[in-house]
Amino acid sequence: MAAAAAAATTTASSSTQGSLREDLTCAICCDLFREPVMLACMHHFCKACISRYWRGVQGPVTCPQCRRVFSTKHFQTNYLVVAMVEKVRASSSDTYIKDLEKQLKDTLESHRLKKEEYINLIRKDKEKMDAIKRVGAELQARVQGEFRALQQFLQDEEACVLEQLRKEQEEVLEQLQRHLEASKEAVKELEQNMKVLQQASIATDNGVLVELPQLSRPCVRVDTPPELDINAFNSKYIAPLQYITWRKMFKSLKPGLAPLTFDVDTAHPSISVSRDKTVAVEYDSMTSYKPHPKRFLQCVNILAAQGFQSGRHYWEIAVGSKPKWDLGVALEGVDRHTRIKLSPESGYWTLRLRNGNEYSAGTQPWTRLQLGSCPQRIGVFLDCEERRVSFYNADDMSLLYSFASGPRGKVFPFFSPCISDTSQRPQPIQLIHYPTAVLSG
Ligand SMILES: [Zn+2]
Ligand SMILES: [Zn+2]
Repeated sequence: MAAAAAAATTTASSSTQGSLREDLTCAICCDLFREPVMLACMHHFCKACISRYWRGVQGPVTCPQCRRVFSTKHFQTNYLVVAMVEKVRASSSDTYIKDLEKQLKDTLESHRLKKEEYINLIRKDKEKMDAIKRVGAELQARVQGEFRALQQFLQDEEACVLEQLRKEQEEVLEQLQRHLEASKEAVKELEQNMKVLQQASIATDNGVLVELPQLSRPCVRVDTPPELDINAFNSKYIAPLQYITWRKMFKSLKPGLAPLTFDVDTAHPSISVSRDKTVAVEYDSMTSYKPHPKRFLQCVNILAAQGFQSGRHYWEIAVGSKPKWDLGVALEGVDRHTRIKLSPESGYWTLRLRNGNEYSAGTQPWTRLQLGSCPQRIGVFLDCEERRVSFYNADDMSLLYSFASGPRGKVFPFFSPCISDTSQRPQPIQLIHYPTAVLSG
């Protein structure tokens, strides 16, 4: 039955096998050859079948198939046919069929698994697409919000300047209008007076007038016209309006450039800080210092005086061509008295430079960064809500590295001028308060 079922699943090879089976069937017993032998006429039979067929025959014998007559009972073994019969027999055996069925099952199963795998991949791709769409939409809204804030600022400023211009113009026009009305009134009164005087003059001619006529307002006078300084009016608005507005806008940026200062109480004893607390430089000799629990004593580190635990903040540091530095943020509670590897696990989110051109993110182990250029200024962006710390090349504002799981809790801007090679003059790092013109006034 299994063989029949297998045969029913017709394939080209199984139908070929069917006709082969017929070719290898003995015409006497109608079964597959057993010990097939070949007569001189090339017909094959089972050895037992042909022997039985010829048994008892004396003299010439015939081929049961083609009736050819042979003088002797002679046949020979055809090994090729023997081998083929064995193959066909084996292929229709139960174990062979079972094997085949197993192979079929296995192949089917492997296809099913493969299909499942691909369906999983498709699901994952779709999930990723959904995620990127969702994040994209959120980012789009965020970008729009940022630009809307700038546009709102400009619109408000424009409205404010235009309103001021309108008011000033109206005020001057009102003054002039009042003067104009007063002048017109004066002309009217003068004309009336003139009429009275002219009538009086005629009366004098006729010898009737004995005294000067009574005038309703004998002394008609108008105030001097208001001073109109068109030049002053002009020069208020013919101005570098874009620059003036941009300066105002710069101060309204969120986050704008945080004007940080160094906290000298945190400075390692070999760091010297400028009087205005914006420049720090490392010297190989230690300066005398006041003991302070905030002070770094093992590593050449210093923090800014301004700490952050909410909102978004951005600051810039000029590093010039200094060959070695570490920058970033540090948790308020970092251990300042032991030597520690800088990494988020130990409370530091940093970017570092070694040997003048080897930039790394302060992960554990370090993540080497391939930068196209050597930034002279580094920007640090801290987003406390999103827990993100990003570093920028502040020369062109290209992103250098971003920590996606940033600090939780209060952090301080962190700096290390590092220990300079004795052969080189130590170069400072500087907190940028930029631009001076924008921040003043
Ligand atoms: Zn036979
Ligand atoms: Zn024959």
